[in-house]
Amino acid sequence: SSRLRPSSVSKVRVIVRVRPFLPQETASGNGTPISCVSVLDSELDSSEEVTVHLKDQETSRNECYKLDSFFGQEDNNVNRIFHREVSPLIPGIFHGYNATVFAYGATGSGKTYTMQGSDELPGLMPLAMSTILFMCQSTGSRAEISYYEVYMDRCYDLMELKANEVAVLDDQDGQIHLKGLARVPVNSMCEFREMFSSAILRRKVAHTGLNDVSSRSHGVLVISVSAPCDDGSGKSVTGKLNLIDLAGNEDNRRTCNEGIRLQESAKINQSLFALSNVIYALNNNKPRVPYRESKLTRILQDSLGGTSRTLMVACLNPGEYQESVHTVSLAARSRHI
Ligand code: ADP
Ligand code: MG
Repeated sequence: SSRLRPSSVSKVRVIVRVRPFLPQETASGNGTPISCVSVLDSELDSSEEVTVHLKDQETSRNECYKLDSFFGQEDNNVNRIFHREVSPLIPGIFHGYNATVFAYGATGSGKTYTMQGSDELPGLMPLAMSTILFMCQSTGSRAEISYYEVYMDRCYDLMELKANEVAVLDDQDGQIHLKGLARVPVNSMCEFREMFSSAILRRKVAHTGLNDVSSRSHGVLVISVSAPCDDGSGKSVTGKLNLIDLAGNEDNRRTCNEGIRLQESAKINQSLFALSNVIYALNNNKPRVPYRESKLTRILQDSLGGTSRTLMVACLNPGEYQESVHTVSLAARSRHI
């Protein structure tokens, strides 16, 4: 139905989420934050925009950026982000439109917590799955999932026992195709949880100077829905929701990365930069959108821009001012001129 069709200009919504301090970060002595970002306030400029003020409490440096919405430390409930920001993307999926949700930010800023969550507090991925399954029942639709990661510009199928590499191919009509990527039907949350928990264990993790274990790959969960057309023709339409836990945007000067870690970081930064260039081009109606500059943007080409809807969740660690400025400035840059 046309009501669900996004306006011709496909703006990317950019929102900020600040995680709370962790118990070990607030204890005196070890682990005390070096600096503390206080988000002074997030003024609501209009129903369409907020201004986020970041301030370094030690040095009083400060910056402000305009974004679409803001979820602060005291608003620490992923359900609210889900209902306000992700849930509105779901009905379109049942009408054949694609949507993409990214969690973006440095390592330790809460991306995985936001996207995956835990058994007790499910993140946006399981929350979306649950809503989609519920809607499948009432509409007679079917859902399937794929889960893959993009690591060093290569794509690995996480639904496979051995996380096999899958080839990224261009087919004749310019569509991107992940050859042999598993698509598994999901009928219940119980089935989903079982597959999801083994898939996330397969994600590549490695040690860096900053964090014991950090994600060095982009993790992409795709929920595809095949829904009967409402015209009674017996045909069906397919839409998909991509939920992406992006690799951390690390500053190599701080992580003391060397060798393979440095190469990983270079690839990660390159793909995040390419992603922000694509979003910038889409939001500013540039004639050419540079999808081909990275593997990630190439794979996501059919889900970014056009009639697709995109949400970028910029995640912040409240103890890191410089890092937060880096994340929000890039997110804000993607958003508009
Ligand atoms: P990232 O994936 O960006 O590297 P994580 O999601 O692993 O970061 O989060 C880093 C740490 O902070 C983890 O210990 C996680 O449990 C905790 N954390 C993140 N976000 C929250 C939150 N909103 N509330 C409570 N703890 C959080
Ligand atoms: Mg993570």
